[in-house]
Amino acid sequence: MSAFLSVDNIQLIYQTPQQETMAVKDVSFDVNKGQFVSLVGPSGCGKSTILSCIAGLQLQQKGSITFDGRDISHNADRVGYMLQSDNLLPWRSVWRNVIIGLEIQKKLTEENINYVKELLEKYDLLQFKDSFPNRLSGGMRQRVALIRTLALKPQLLLLDEAFSALDYQTRVNVSCDVYSILRRENKTMVMVTHDIPEAVSMSDKVIVLSKRPAVVAKTVDIDFGPDRPNPIEVRRHPKFQQYFNTIWKELVQ
Ligand code: ADP
Ligand code: MG
Repeated sequence: MSAFLSVDNIQLIYQTPQQETMAVKDVSFDVNKGQFVSLVGPSGCGKSTILSCIAGLQLQQKGSITFDGRDISHNADRVGYMLQSDNLLPWRSVWRNVIIGLEIQKKLTEENINYVKELLEKYDLLQFKDSFPNRLSGGMRQRVALIRTLALKPQLLLLDEAFSALDYQTRVNVSCDVYSILRRENKTMVMVTHDIPEAVSMSDKVIVLSKRPAVVAKTVDIDFGPDRPNPIEVRRHPKFQQYFNTIWKELVQ
């Protein structure tokens, strides 16, 4: 059986009038349905470029990306994207922020509205639906941004340094919330981070990329057993430090 998401030998070169920059040289990896995968690598090595190819926002010059059996260009509407900044609109209430994607796509059906209400309720935000984003903490804002993304029912979530604007304590808590929400909603995830503990605590597989232009330097399978603790508790697991060290060694070479 082929993988849910398959990235095969992609290469991308940015062309500007001044220069050519090869961002991604040759990257391949597979993601199974329900799997959480992290891409780590030095700053500027091509991580965001790879994610935007998976989102169908950029087209690689070589190689292919297949999602659920079809080229990603046919399936891009089943992919959700979360960035570092939550991009909530300050003049819209929480409710009007979370439905904005449905509004734009003209999908404000009763079923979809109920689904969004359920998500807000399940994740403790329903009582804030009439509040404006500036009344919320950083962690709550990221949960609102996640629900806005989930409202469109994507199967694959892409997170690009989604927690790096938050202070350390909030970051650890929000990454744990996001992890639990995505697991409960049976999503598949690919995320980019430069934080090794974040990658290990949230992933089934960590792909370590080389310096630009990116190639895969190492793939590390993360296995904390069937009763995997949540991303906060797993940091105390005896195997956590081993995984950290393996990835760290690869990155500092
Ligand atoms: P990362 O996310 O790993 O930090 P990026 O994928 O954003 O790296 O960028 C990889 C390289 O490509 C960098 O050298 C960056 O300057 C360059 N780059 C990114 N986007 C563009 C663009 N739109 N045009 C030209 N060069 C770009
Ligand atoms: Mg980036």
